[in-house]
Amino acid sequence: MSRAPIWHPFTQHGLGEPIPLITHAQGAILHTADGRRIIDAISSWWVTTHGHCHPRIAAAIAAQAGRLDQLIFAGWTHEPAERLGAELVALVDAELGAAGGLPHVFFSDSGSTCVEVALKMALGFWANRGAARHRIVVMEHSYHGDTIGAMSVGARGVFNAAYAQLLFDVATIPFPAAGAEQACLNALEQACATQNPAAFLVEPLVLGAGGMLMYPPAVLGEMRQICARHGVLFIADEVMTGWGRTGTMLACSQAGIVPDILCLAKGLTGGSLPLAVTLASGAVFDAHYGEDRARMFYHSSSYTANPVACAAALANLAVWREEPVAERIAALAAHQAEGLAMLGALPGIANPRQCGTIIALDVTSTDAGYLSALAPRLMAQFRDADVLLRPLGNTVYVMPPYGITPGDLARVHQVIAQAVS
Ligand SMILES: *Cc1c(COP(=O)(O)O)cnc(C)c1O
Repeated sequence: MSRAPIWHPFTQHGLGEPIPLITHAQGAILHTADGRRIIDAISSWWVTTHGHCHPRIAAAIAAQAGRLDQLIFAGWTHEPAERLGAELVALVDAELGAAGGLPHVFFSDSGSTCVEVALKMALGFWANRGAARHRIVVMEHSYHGDTIGAMSVGARGVFNAAYAQLLFDVATIPFPAAGAEQACLNALEQACATQNPAAFLVEPLVLGAGGMLMYPPAVLGEMRQICARHGVLFIADEVMTGWGRTGTMLACSQAGIVPDILCLAKGLTGGSLPLAVTLASGAVFDAHYGEDRARMFYHSSSYTANPVACAAALANLAVWREEPVAERIAALAAHQAEGLAMLGALPGIANPRQCGTIIALDVTSTDAGYLSALAPRLMAQFRDADVLLRPLGNTVYVMPPYGITPGDLARVHQVIAQAVS
């Protein structure tokens, strides 16, 4: 048992599990210090979209780092942020047919912080209007990050039990599982009608950390309508689903909806540097606007809109514009469908499912004790086979960078088939 200086996230150091040392990466491949070639089948925790070390993004980072590395963003501004803000608003308009629906961009550093910002915007919206609305409605099995506010609006479990006393209360509606969609919608309608909520916060189409749970665009569309009818702000957390994962650049576009507040992070820089944005409607911005300093939006962090991260995001947008990203996503989705058909037919597999580039399946077991130890055992098997996969409980999923080769992807599917058999 080593007590090394580095304390890794979501890692029980007392188990002494190996922690591979990675020296460099290209595309979907990680190279270890001892010469192994690892296939990154989860995009380094859902962030790497095109592939590791995309030359265009790497070059943009290098150039910006030598020009302007950091700037206070309260009362000062710089070109990469100005350009990125304008491009993001135009992009979201085009993707969602939003026609100016989300004209304001607030920068932060991570998925958790852009969710915190969204919650504070929603609460500020009502507070500045003098309305006593502070309850947040969320969906069962949701995940929105690991800060205290983001944990409060996420599912409760072993991972936040120690902090439960500090988490604020929310109203929770059931997940719209197949056949139970109406119960979910009814619960949302009921919560909106009786609890006077400030906002409904939801992951569109796929609940990621909750187990890659998927629901249809029509349900998302109905949820948006219910919120609109009751004047409840609709916050879409596209931190994971954004940037092509569900087959379209934004999951919301598959339901034809425009949220009041939109959270984007992970793939915003192509997965190269930490950066996040919260986009807001004119009404949300206007509630904070005026000559009264007490109404301004009180949120900042040291690295808000860091110029180097903004330059990386601009390069990512250029990759989306100028490279055949949509074609790569379509090809990946088709190859994933083939792999899922093969895996779904194996004994001991339940609920094979796909949304765009993401496939997931549940490994069944009648022995709950075994089940609890399943994820780490599978993970170790995958690691020994030089594939980076990280099951969520008994759910195995594949979410690779779009540039993964068909051969490497087939290898990932094969390794899963071997491990579960
Ligand atoms: C990962 C994730 C977050 C948190 O993002 P971090 O960058 O890890 O803080 C929030 N919401 C969703 C839906 C996520 O998948």
